[in-house]
Amino acid sequence: MKNKLYGNIAIDGPAGAGKSTVARLLARRLGYLYIDTGAMYRALTWKALQEGLDLADEQQLISLAEATTIRLENGPAGSIAVYCDGEDVTAAIRQESVSNSVSLVARVPGVRRRLVELQRQIAACNRVVMDGRDIGTNVLPNAPHKFFLTASLPERSRRRYNELTASGQQVDLESIREEIRRRDALDTQREVDPLRPAPGAVIIDTSTMAIEDVVARILTIIRGRD
Ligand code: C5P
Repeated sequence: MKNKLYGNIAIDGPAGAGKSTVARLLARRLGYLYIDTGAMYRALTWKALQEGLDLADEQQLISLAEATTIRLENGPAGSIAVYCDGEDVTAAIRQESVSNSVSLVARVPGVRRRLVELQRQIAACNRVVMDGRDIGTNVLPNAPHKFFLTASLPERSRRRYNELTASGQQVDLESIREEIRRRDALDTQREVDPLRPAPGAVIIDTSTMAIEDVVARILTIIRGRD
């Protein structure tokens, strides 16, 4: 049976709140495209680090954003691949060096302008579940369904630690916690499109919830509004 269509879904929240796992599952369930906007900022950061750019030089970062082609590909079984100028950077963008620098790149207004434009273009021609920090507030302010996922810092750090060790990276919990704390501060305090719940967003604290329960709760809310 064909899925019913409910309009675009915006999911925001801090790092490790479960956004990407939930968004990916929702997209699969509804037959929507999953757009991980954090992966776009990460891809650009990866490229800036590769080219040895000074991350304090906003003009250089803006020029890079304008010259770089970033593409997300939804694969089978909910996987996504990220390409930066044709190169597969899916694994590379999860490295600690990228995580530690991405918020510095993402706070530059000209960088955001460029990536937001791309995100809006994708949403204009597809049904999307889009996750990030400013989707409900800025990228898709008219999305009919907005959610803000959150969880305690220890829980978010633990999840990120498990994710990274499962993918074979050697990390320690304390530095993950520090990286997330620092990223949260930069993301919530930046001048342009800071991380915050959109007006009308449903806030879900996922600290003690299983992923499947979060997905089920969101689906119930979306279907209930129909
Ligand atoms: O979602 P993820 O943790 O991979 O995002 C990496 C970083 O990209 C965030 O910490 C934030 O600095 C930036 N970001 C953003 N706006 C978005 C998505 C991500 O500023 N919509």
